[in-house]
Amino acid sequence: MTHPSPAMEVRTRFAPSPTGSIHLGSLRTALFTWLWARHCDGKFILRIEDTDSRRFDPDSIASIVQGLQWLGLKWDEGPDIGGKFGPYTQSERRAHYQEHADWLLAEGHAYRCFCSPQRLQAMREAQKASGQQTGYDRTCRELSARQITRQLEAGTPFTVRLKMPLEGTITFPDLIRGDITVDARTLQDPVLLKSDGMALYHLAVVVDDRLMKISHVLRGQEWLATAPYHHALYDAFGWEPPVMVHLPVILNPNGKGKMSKRRPVVAGESMPVHVHEFRDAGYEPDAVFNFLSLLGWTPDAERELFDRQSLIEAFELTAISPSAAAMPYDKLLWMNGVYIRGMSAPAFRAKVVAALARAYGRRPEDIDALPGLSHVLPELQTRMKTMSDSVQWMDWLFVEADQIAYDDPGVLMGRRLDALQSAQVLRRSWDLIESAAVFEPEPLHRLFRQGAEAMDMKAGSFFGPVRGALSGSKVSPPLFAMMACLGPGESQARISRARARLLAEHESAVE
Ligand code: GLU
Repeated sequence: MTHPSPAMEVRTRFAPSPTGSIHLGSLRTALFTWLWARHCDGKFILRIEDTDSRRFDPDSIASIVQGLQWLGLKWDEGPDIGGKFGPYTQSERRAHYQEHADWLLAEGHAYRCFCSPQRLQAMREAQKASGQQTGYDRTCRELSARQITRQLEAGTPFTVRLKMPLEGTITFPDLIRGDITVDARTLQDPVLLKSDGMALYHLAVVVDDRLMKISHVLRGQEWLATAPYHHALYDAFGWEPPVMVHLPVILNPNGKGKMSKRRPVVAGESMPVHVHEFRDAGYEPDAVFNFLSLLGWTPDAERELFDRQSLIEAFELTAISPSAAAMPYDKLLWMNGVYIRGMSAPAFRAKVVAALARAYGRRPEDIDALPGLSHVLPELQTRMKTMSDSVQWMDWLFVEADQIAYDDPGVLMGRRLDALQSAQVLRRSWDLIESAAVFEPEPLHRLFRQGAEAMDMKAGSFFGPVRGALSGSKVSPPLFAMMACLGPGESQARISRARARLLAEHESAVE
């Protein structure tokens, strides 16, 4: 049963540890967690799990918050906005963990472990040396009341460990994987509370999920191994556990191995894996949202494009696949292109202007005022896969004439023209620009067509050298929109340099 009774409020939580920016897998977890809360008209909670101070990265909380906001996942309760069950940062919840650890001790579900770090280290080494499985040997589990009192009186520091069953099996349900059974002999007595009184993950997560009334826990498959401990804790406390869903791992694009934090390379380009990398690489949040929703869940085999509302309506926990799948970046790129093409022209223009201003250190107003920009944009919108493509696609606009190297003279040669003929085209083009009465794409196009006819050439051949001269490349946005953007002076400067390059090429060919 995934749909709880109407009386039960659905409350889900995303509980990142502040150890860095959000990785693709966690982002998908956050998204599914959010979708389920929204689907059920429930609450989505953000909780910061910072019990491990050694791995704490102070910048990561801001980056987690920004990442979730970028994807449009708003939380109903969290460290910044509070809520009925706060605080929502684990380091501020020590009193709760202490109280629950004390209760477990008093009820005989946990014990104090006085073993020193040195003893534990020596024990591990001896276990390794004799080829045994490493793990706590439960020495302190059997201490007598007198021994415990003596240690406490002596002020020996201690941790608190959970008494796990010594034999038999532990079975717990996972909504998408069914019942999972583990042999108790493979499990340890985990530390719940460190000697400085700070809780470790197992205790903190169970206590918080309970006190925050979490109804459904969605988390990555990598946490499956911890679930038997959590289940044992729920048992010890006499609490009903929340519904558990361990989401499948995401594999590398080639299907081999779990996606790591290193950016995979697809078709020669390195692909984003952290949320800020998706943002910086020019992905649209709506496209990433749509794409990630379908990573492990298929609402409709016939369709891939869904808006947020239909995803919320269709989302179903039991329909999530438990099997790992490879990360299909090609699909993401395609989908992002679809979202870009779906933007209104003004929205697209504003985004391109912002991206160009950022990339080239210009003022957005100056870019927006460029003549001819509106002629380039429609073409750009049909071709771009990410907003960053606009930066590459428009780089011709941001270099000075003397920075274009024209290393490959082939770029400047028209179809079936040699270097000398191409240089003649450029000579003629310079004059055409000089004579242009209106510097707008359409009139320029007409003028250059006539120029081609006058030289008895096909437009395609005639335009080639001009395109190469203006853009430094064989592919570019529409030629005359580009020319209008650059203006007559800059267009002529590029044409003159390109012509000089062709003449040098011709000379060296003749010699
Ligand atoms: N704090 C864990 C993490 O950073 C999440 C564990 C959980 O969701 O239970 O991934």
